[in-house]
Amino acid sequence: MSTWQTRLLHSQTRIPQGYRSLATPVYRGSTTLFANAASVTDDWDQERAGYTYGLYGTPTSLELAARICELESGRHTILTPGGQSAISLVDFALLKAGDHILVPQSVYRPNRQLTTSLLARFGVTATFYDPTIGAEIGDLFNEKTRLVWTESPGSVTMEVQDLPAIVEAAHKRDALVALDNTWSAGVLLDAFAHGVDVTMQAITKYIGGHSDVLLGSVTVRDEALYRRLGDARQVIGAAVSPDDCSLALRGLQTLAVRLDTIERSALAIANWLDERPEVERVLHPALPSCPGHEFYTRDFLGSSGVFSIVLRPGPTREAVAAFVDALRFFEIGYSWGGTTSLAVAYTIGRASGRPAYGHRLVRFSVGLESTSDLIGDLEKAFSKLEV
Ligand SMILES: *Cc1c(COP(=O)(O)O)cnc(C)c1O
Repeated sequence: MSTWQTRLLHSQTRIPQGYRSLATPVYRGSTTLFANAASVTDDWDQERAGYTYGLYGTPTSLELAARICELESGRHTILTPGGQSAISLVDFALLKAGDHILVPQSVYRPNRQLTTSLLARFGVTATFYDPTIGAEIGDLFNEKTRLVWTESPGSVTMEVQDLPAIVEAAHKRDALVALDNTWSAGVLLDAFAHGVDVTMQAITKYIGGHSDVLLGSVTVRDEALYRRLGDARQVIGAAVSPDDCSLALRGLQTLAVRLDTIERSALAIANWLDERPEVERVLHPALPSCPGHEFYTRDFLGSSGVFSIVLRPGPTREAVAAFVDALRFFEIGYSWGGTTSLAVAYTIGRASGRPAYGHRLVRFSVGLESTSDLIGDLEKAFSKLEV
């Protein structure tokens, strides 16, 4: 018998096996044990090599990755510590100095910042394109163009893109297409059916669903792309927490009912806003007033709860801020897709390359409060809006 100090670490205890919980267990671990000295390997592909190191995934994170992969009809999914790190993994895995990429003007702002900062420093050049460009994107390629980013609808200004036309133009020139599919939660737009090569989403948003977790995913069908992404993830070293994955696995169980309620509520609110005299335009993909609405109707299976409005000219920037402040149930904050409704005012200047909505844009994320309370909240805030 060893000493009690050693028994703390090498115990002889045995517990009954075969506990079948409905919940995926949380496996914490950096080290995972090899059967013998000869089987030690640092292969990151644990689907192939068995478990080698916690950085490349635990049973908890591989379960979440596999579930997301199944939902998106992919072949492989790699999890990342957030949506933005999913974006940077795609760029670092697929690009090299001298390459050129195409990025929509309406892209999620940190994606734009990555493009103009680190990617530029590492010798990757970029052209920002009008998200509504469609097949004419062909004119923007040069012989160095390797990747086209898409995001549909775009962040804040909500343009829905003609994905098949962009994919066709890119593939004709041997360039890859990556889609930020966060708005659709990976389920309301079938990225691979529309020809996209790489799809990513912020699990932080609808799959997490409760504003308490940061995670991202990158999904592909192509084996060679999977190898490039896995090789890059190994050296970047971005690991995910099994506890966060456990929260996301819980989120998946209620995703359908949350999305369904949120879709109906957001549509009712968007249609109500469309009738308001203070509102010039509702930028909700399911409404004809949204740029690219015809592509939404053609390609999407439904809508989620994030949309924007453009107010009629009149209110100052301060008045728009006061309108947002006057809302009681819409809280103010980033990272939508949770249970609580959010509102954020944005200023979209001409220099952004987007429609110059100025300071008149407010973006909403509709949560799970009752629709009538949210409409009542908006009605009260409009009654105080100074024009
Ligand atoms: C929030 C968001 C991201 C980034 O996700 P994080 O988990 O916050 O890093 C990426 N793309 C879109 C469209 C988003 O809304």
